[in-house]
Amino acid sequence: MTTKVYRIINTAIINKNLPYIEPCPLCGSEAYVWKYSQDFKKNPVSKVVRCSNTDILGTECVLSTPLSIFYKPRIIESIEVWNAYAKAATQQRIKRRSHNIFMRKRIT
Ligand SMILES: [Zn+2]
Repeated sequence: MTTKVYRIINTAIINKNLPYIEPCPLCGSEAYVWKYSQDFKKNPVSKVVRCSNTDILGTECVLSTPLSIFYKPRIIESIEVWNAYAKAATQQRIKRRSHNIFMRKRIT
């Protein structure tokens, strides 16, 4: 198994020029764009948005190591897929939560 190596992109440049990045839909922490490559000298470099939370019950938020769909060639693409995922996950959580509360009130 290959260990993933992350290199962060200058956050000052990202904050100034790039679109808003949604917070992590799981834990609410800030998320940042990173460069990723298995070998920065030989292999292509991907861009990925990762959750910054490294302390949930003594471990990292699972979205600090996102699934493969989040790795994109361009920064803007990585932000778009992260934002779409974050918005959809948040909307689904709110919808399911309100539905569950409604159903519990009907039962009791
Ligand atoms: Zn998170």
